[in-house]
Amino acid sequence: MIIVTNNEGRSGIMATAKLLAQGLAGLDAIEAGVRLVEADETVRTVGRGGWPNLLGDVELDASVMDGTTLRTGAVGALKGFLHPVSVARQVLERLPHELLVGEGAKRFATEIGAEAGDLLMPHARTAWQRWFNDEVSERERGQWPNVPMTDLCRHAIDPEIGRDTTVFIGQDRNGDIAAGTSTSGWGWKYPGRLGDSPVIGAGSYADTRYGACACTGVGEMSIRAGTARAVVLYMKMGMSVEEAVYEAVTDMRALKGGLIGRVTIHAIDTAGGHKVVAVNGLPENHYWIWHEGLETPVSRPAEIIAISEDPAPKPTAHRRYEQMDL
Ligand code: ASP
Repeated sequence: MIIVTNNEGRSGIMATAKLLAQGLAGLDAIEAGVRLVEADETVRTVGRGGWPNLLGDVELDASVMDGTTLRTGAVGALKGFLHPVSVARQVLERLPHELLVGEGAKRFATEIGAEAGDLLMPHARTAWQRWFNDEVSERERGQWPNVPMTDLCRHAIDPEIGRDTTVFIGQDRNGDIAAGTSTSGWGWKYPGRLGDSPVIGAGSYADTRYGACACTGVGEMSIRAGTARAVVLYMKMGMSVEEAVYEAVTDMRALKGGLIGRVTIHAIDTAGGHKVVAVNGLPENHYWIWHEGLETPVSRPAEIIAISEDPAPKPTAHRRYEQMDL
């Protein structure tokens, strides 16, 4: 069985479903599917083609988790490599560590011979350049990049811009459960910002004994609520997958201040059950599911639960640039 994010997962779910049906191990099938999404340049929030940070650099985050060994591998703010999910997988396979970021992640990716490549595609370069020309003052442009970025970041952020990380959570024929995530994170983010995707326990968690959970949307919220680990823990404590996800939504209601927007929580249990809720979501928030017996993956709507009165994002400079016909 496999559950995959919304539109972004479209390019990968077929392959993962096929590999699982052939009996491949869950983690291998998930890595293969995520790689296809990373390679798909039309997906503007994952891998090559993703939106850049404030400096115009694409920084990628990714993770994998093996729910049977509880080993994880993750990379954050990785620049210049096409498949962060595979670098994350090699962190799991080759290092006594779980998470590498920035220069260290780049060094490791180089050392293992990971595929390097330009991540900033023409549409994203143009959008960033227009933003830079229009929104950054002449004085700042003269001193770029040695300028304070806190205010630039606050004004550029749009809670709906990072329309989805790709997340894959699945169970293979053996019953082993695994998770994988990959994202370019929020466009126009502060350089070095990590979302929830490389933070195990926030953006994903898998435990073959109970189930798995992975989140997309405002990573700041899942980090604050420890969402993915919480959902799996709630199942361990006896809740059904549905109750566990609802409890995690209740946790999010306690968040005060900070960046509040949409988070989609995807979860599976060990018995073929699943639940997907889009907190502050929109009707277009769908997910993909495939399980043994289904000929092909199907897309289904997430249940929408509003937790804030005004979840609608304010239009910002950033959003205007994304919507330009580039
Ligand atoms: N969760 C991702 C992040 O916070 C973005 C997204 O899924 O929309 O980086």
